[in-house]
This record gives sequence, structure tokens and C-alpha cells, in this order.
Amino acid sequence: MATEVIPLPKSEITESIIDSEQTTCCVVGGGPGGMMLALLLARKGVPVTLLEAHKDFDRDFRGDTIHPSVLEILDEIGLAEPLHKLRHVKVFGPTLRAANTSFNPIDFRRLKTKFPYIMLIPQTKFLEFLAGEASKYPEFRLKMTANVESLIEENGCVRGVRYLSTDGWHEVRATLTVGADGRFSKVRHLAGFEPIKTSPPMDILWFRLPHLPEDPQEDSGRVMGGFGNGRVLVVFDRFDYWQVGYVFPKGTYQQVRAAGLEALRNSIVAIEPHFAHHVASLTDWHQCSLLSVESSRCPLWYRPGVLLIGDAAHVMSPVGGVGINYAVQDAVVAANLLASPLKAGRLQVSDLARVQRQREWPTRIIQAVQSFVQKRLIATVLRSQNTMTIPGSVRVLFSIPVLRDIPARLIAFGVRRVHVEQQATTS
Ligand SMILES: Cc1cc2nc3c(=O)[nH]c(=O)nc-3n(C[C@H](O)[C@H](O)[C@H](O)COP(=O)(O)OP(=O)(O)OC[C@H]3O[C@@H](n4cnc5c(N)ncnc54)[C@H](O)[C@@H]3O)c2cc1C
Repeated sequence: MATEVIPLPKSEITESIIDSEQTTCCVVGGGPGGMMLALLLARKGVPVTLLEAHKDFDRDFRGDTIHPSVLEILDEIGLAEPLHKLRHVKVFGPTLRAANTSFNPIDFRRLKTKFPYIMLIPQTKFLEFLAGEASKYPEFRLKMTANVESLIEENGCVRGVRYLSTDGWHEVRATLTVGADGRFSKVRHLAGFEPIKTSPPMDILWFRLPHLPEDPQEDSGRVMGGFGNGRVLVVFDRFDYWQVGYVFPKGTYQQVRAAGLEALRNSIVAIEPHFAHHVASLTDWHQCSLLSVESSRCPLWYRPGVLLIGDAAHVMSPVGGVGINYAVQDAVVAANLLASPLKAGRLQVSDLARVQRQREWPTRIIQAVQSFVQKRLIATVLRSQNTMTIPGSVRVLFSIPVLRDIPARLIAFGVRRVHVEQQATTS
């Protein structure tokens, strides 16, 4: 069955709804999770409509990391090679910098995988790439500037959504609605799911610093972290500029502002001396955006007709940069388990429950690790007002290959590797 747009009969038109579309799966949110799910379902012959609120994929910075597990998944559907043709860099291990030295705690090259690195590619390009691939399937429809505002519910079952676009209201009726609409998920709220917090909030100031001729040109070490004087700095190379996250104790933003831009510039250079010239470009607070990030998870990810995946089901902290990985893995598991029943028109609530069962425990484990890092390690750094060094014991621990491979594996694959089910479901 192909997705079709049916003009509403005159008698059924509520004042402002322009048209009603019938599909099998309506995915809300074109982030990594929603886009991957839509692609995989369309690939298996399931009619799917993806609704994305923005007019394009150029969104605020939310990470550019494509982990080995995602590259393996893309390889399984023949897309790793074309993705590598896009402009990217490979990171074989992030560099950690402190007053006494810098070192590379993790080396992905030791992992048993065809892709022993994190690929850094602007998320806009990654999402455009997935959308382009999904568009090759007639079952896939993409609606941009489609802001979902309400759910269509009948007899306790979600039957689709209503969304507002530039020309007014539309509706999509579907057997299954998937909320892949991120940390502030509207679908989660409308469906009545209550998330529970899993780690305390963290304040981060995000800004860009320019690339300068003296910057390193090599492909590795393009993700850096540094700390000292109660601050943590996280740096990503985005080809044309550096994306910087400046972490400070929760609730002290007014103090950071009151200290002034000169103090901010000095504090950045104290952690990362390489930026001595770059920080001159930071001349106005409007160049910075303040983000309060926390993590949470929903006890229940589904009810009849609706399922949550990715950040909508479990908001991931940026610690370790694993959120994209997890959203994509949720999508793969959902597609593996739901494509056949959706296609056969026999989707049960128990199918949705299986998705949560398979994905909940890996999520809980990784969130526990993130929470530990945030509460114990980052909080200790943020409390210290002195120059900090990397303790010798930490260096020793990370020099033991078996121990050093544990965080590398967690970051690269999550708690559990997932694979695209290869059975032919297209008929
Ligand atoms: C500052 C920051 C830095 C991060 N860095 C990293 C990193 O380096 N690596 C990493 O792996 N993770 C990182 N993360 C986490 C990562 O961004 C998320 O875990 C990941 O994006 C989740 O993917 P998703 O598809 O579930 O949701 P999202 O990527 O949030 O996508 C949700 C989509 O839904 C759309 N949407 C929202 N509401 C509606 C609506 N009502 N109607 C229609 N569409 C809607 C949004 O526009 C968006 O496109 C970071 C997070 C933050 C906050």
C-alpha cells in the first residue's frame, strides 16, 4: 500500500484542516533516530511519513559524531561507502588536556570493527544524506515545516497526528505514530508519558571560535576536552570553525557573565592555550548560547498506536557523546521488530513492548555511567578552583589495554551492538 493524500470530505473538514493523509507509520521528528527509522521502514516496503518541524536540517549544534556502531549499521544497508564520500574527519581517540599534560585516554583503533574511529560530519549533512537515501523509496514521504501539535486519538488508541505548516493545519492518520522528536518531545507530552530525571542538570555555554592558519590539519584529535579552575572545555572541529562547549557549575551563569568576557577568554586560554588568538573573536555575549542539559528516561515508551524512541524516550546527556548512537540503535531495533507486523497489518501493543524491552536496559546502563561521570568526575572538576592535573593513577589505569578498551567499546557501540535484520520483507 502506498502512502496517499486524501482530501477530506467536505462534511468532515474541521474549520482549518486542509488535508488528511493515510499512512502506515507516521514518524515525528527528523533527527538521527526518526530519519533512520523512516529509512529502514521504507526500505522494507512500509509506507512511512516523516514530519519535521524545521524547514531544513540545519539545526543548533547537537553533536556531529557518527560512531562505529552507526557506521556498521550503515554498512549493513550499503550506505557506509557513500557516506564516506562526504567531507568528514576521523577521530581515533579524543585528546584530554590538563595543566600537567595532554593524553589520549581512548584508542578506537584497538576495537574489532571495520570502522575503528568516530566520523565527524556536520549533522545537517548526515541527515540530508539519510533523507536523500530514504527518498529513493516510493513508500517514504518527508514533510518539512510540519510542526506536530496534537494527536488523533480514538477509543484510547493513537491514530495519527495533526500538524501546522506554513499553509495551515494538516493531519496524518497512521497505524503507528512514533515520537522521535527529541528531548522536548511534544508527542511524549501529548501521549501523557512522564520522564524521570536520571542525572542533575549541567550548564553549558556554546559558542564558535574561528579556524586560524596555525590550526592542526591532521585528521585525528579533532575532539578535545580540557579542564581546570572549575571549568571544563569541550571542543569539536567543524571544518570551518571550532564548536566549543564551556561547562561551569549549575546556576552560576550570572557570575560568569558578571566576571566579563575578558575573564571568559582568559579562562578558555588557561585550559586550551592553543586558543590564545582565537578567543579575540569572542566580543559579545550574543555569540554564546546557554544550554541546561540533563538526562531522563520514560518508564513507559509506548501505548496503543504510539511509541517513543531516541531522546524522546530517554534524554541523553552529552557526556561521552552517545545520544546519536542510541537514537539510531533504537530506530534499528524498532524497524527490525515492527516492519513485518506493520506491513501485515497486525501490529500489537506487545510488539511495541518488545522494542522497549530490548532497548531499555542498554539505555539505563549507559545513563548510569553518564550520571556517575557527571556527579563524580565533572562535579569534582567544577568544584575545584585550582589548576588541575591528570593523576598518575588515572594514566596508569588507561595504559592497561583491557581497562582502556572498556570506555572505548561503550562509546563506540553502546552496551549492546545492534544489527539490521536482513530478511527480505519487500514483496
Ligand atoms: C549541546 C549538545 C551536544 C551534544 N553532543 C552530542 C555528540 O557529540 N554526540 C552524540 O552522540 N550526541 C550528542 N548529543 C545528544 C544528541 O544530540 C541526542 O541524543 C540525539 O540528537 C537524539 O536524536 P533524536 O533523533 O532522538 O532527537 P533529535 O536529534 O533531538 O531530533 C528531534 C527532531 O524532532 C524535531 N521536532 C521536535 N518537535 C517536533 C514537532 N512537534 N513536530 C515535528 N518535529 C519536531 C526537531 O526539530 C528535531 O529535528 C548532544 C546533545 C546536546 C544538547
